[in-house]
Amino acid sequence: MTVLSFSELEIKCNNACKSIYEIAQENESVLSGDDVDVIRLRVLEDLLAMKDAIKNGLGSKEKAVSGWCGDDCAKLIEKYKIKPALFGKIFEKITIYALATAEENLRMGRIVACPTAGSCGIVPSVITAVSEEQKIPESEQINGLLTAGMIGLIISNKVQLAGAVAGCQAECGVASAMAAGALVQMSGGSTKEILNAAALVLKNILGLTCDPVCGLVEVPCIKRNAFLAIHAVVAAELALCGVESKIPIDEIVDTLKITGQLMSPLLKETSLGGLAKTHTAMKLEKKLYAGKSIHS
Ligand code: SF4
Repeated sequence: MTVLSFSELEIKCNNACKSIYEIAQENESVLSGDDVDVIRLRVLEDLLAMKDAIKNGLGSKEKAVSGWCGDDCAKLIEKYKIKPALFGKIFEKITIYALATAEENLRMGRIVACPTAGSCGIVPSVITAVSEEQKIPESEQINGLLTAGMIGLIISNKVQLAGAVAGCQAECGVASAMAAGALVQMSGGSTKEILNAAALVLKNILGLTCDPVCGLVEVPCIKRNAFLAIHAVVAAELALCGVESKIPIDEIVDTLKITGQLMSPLLKETSLGGLAKTHTAMKLEKKLYAGKSIHS
């Protein structure tokens, strides 16, 4: 019961009068041989693990061995105690939670790769922040996460979700599309709106390079999680207002794959180009490998 494309998924949903999450859980049930209830319990475990990662990240300022990152989330928490975020509580929480999770990843804490470890803050921050602020029940959050999973699964049928293969468009970009779909689902949107939200995200991240400084999943990865979580919210808002992507999502995924193939290997996780080869990155690299933190 593999669903290979978004157009196929939309037809299945329309013919069966089902939502994407219902098709996703039935799909998983057929593949695993477990009941849908068991599948939903497993998704709940993932959801709770995501929330644990957020909680752990919120409680730590510990920096990575490099000394570069690990305390940005704490800076936001302190600032927002005095002055709220410009764009309200949901923006505040999404940004903080995305950083909290990504910083947990750099400390080698337990996170849920969704779809990858480098992009682990995007889906959890959007689902958790919005459900806390809008009092969305757990069952609806599970529906959102199943929807996100289905979006990631279909994209991964065509493109390997790895910066080394297709750049960060295939990691943080895909995570953002997954989060947008989850948000539209949790907001009561239709299948068409979910797919439009994911399409709008993907169109706007095409060509996003993977050029981590010193090959560490820190710069630019940590902050990128916060940016692309908010990117998902913009796409969900547009889709829920009836804005449509003129290019169908399947064609955008094909374009993402081709764009990844056209990208120079220097910009695909090799740290041989882009930000990784800036003057400052070279200085950081020198200090790091001299055994010193840049703060020493
Ligand atoms: S820049 Fe590269 S390593 Fe960092 S999150 Fe994106 S794909 Fe992953």
